[in-house]
Amino acid sequence: MIDTEIFKIDPENINGSAVARCAKIIKSGGLVAFPTETVYGLGADATDKTAAKKIYAAKGRPSDNPLIIHVARPEDAERYAYTCELYYRLAEAFMPGPLTVILKKRDIVPDEVTGGLDSVAVRCPSHAVARELIKAADVAIAAPSANLSGSPSPTCAEHVAGDMSGRIDAIIDGGICEIGLESTIVKIDGESVTMLRPGGITVDALRCVCEHVEIASAVTEALGENERPLSPGMKYRHYAPSAQLVLLDGKDSDVTEFFLNAQKNENCALICYSEELSVLDGRKVIDVGARDDLASQAQRLFGALREADGFGADVIYAHLPKQEGLGLALYNRLIRAAAHTVKKI
Ligand code: AMP
Ligand code: MG
Repeated sequence: MIDTEIFKIDPENINGSAVARCAKIIKSGGLVAFPTETVYGLGADATDKTAAKKIYAAKGRPSDNPLIIHVARPEDAERYAYTCELYYRLAEAFMPGPLTVILKKRDIVPDEVTGGLDSVAVRCPSHAVARELIKAADVAIAAPSANLSGSPSPTCAEHVAGDMSGRIDAIIDGGICEIGLESTIVKIDGESVTMLRPGGITVDALRCVCEHVEIASAVTEALGENERPLSPGMKYRHYAPSAQLVLLDGKDSDVTEFFLNAQKNENCALICYSEELSVLDGRKVIDVGARDDLASQAQRLFGALREADGFGADVIYAHLPKQEGLGLALYNRLIRAAAHTVKKI
């Protein structure tokens, strides 16, 4: 067991000496969990293979699932990867922010970070604390989400502490993550991009910068048995609560009716919309925001999955999201958390 130090750092009023102490931990090969605008990351020096290995050990992450490296400025990618004109167009539009771009890696990035691939995932976060930490460390920070492998990503420091206390050197508590879902990941192929994971940057937003945007089939479909994923992370079960998650495909009014009936026979919970609370009063339900407020649903989804587990239910039901706009990212996370279990009602 490691003694995990907690640093509370207000993004609006950053305590430089606390950031400096955390940067020192990173530079000396340690692990620091830190807030970003997407989810909390579990950071280590991206050029240090021993530190990278510690990330996999702390998370219980399969070693072929590569890490995203975080840079303070888009142009810092040059030190770690071979960029191109389209990278800078994407950077101009979306960085700093929730976009990760896969590029060919330079030798400075060890295989331990990229899972042996010759490409590396680069992101420039917009969260003030993340940026200060990277600047102070003066090196890219490799960071997957700061949860135990397979469980929902952490969107506040309490989630991180629940999973990682005793396993890492420090946690920076910088409050709640604004977006709540991991970054959009794209791979550049000449003048086209392929979206490997949907996130805060939507397909429509990408299309404003790049004419040809494809969506990898694994974003919405289960991988075939012998199919090789474009992104190794696609093949693992993810984001899952302990209880079985079942997505309900039907009209909203049918979802609440189904749940009210199901409750008579089974120990179940529902992740619902705010408008539904009045008919579900007093039951095991978690509200993720208004029906049309996809930003709120994104921000609260992972917390809701963790909270739903707190009910001790055998089954957690949730609405099957529409695959439009930010809904595509919600759909992708939920479908995988549910291991593609969808019930038509
Ligand atoms: P996480 O760090 O938990 O947000 O997961 C990072 C995701 O980025 C995983 O799904 C990885 O498979 C994906 N990823 C990282 N590096 C690469 C790469 N070089 N090529 C394709 N996907 C990558
Ligand atoms: Mg993750």
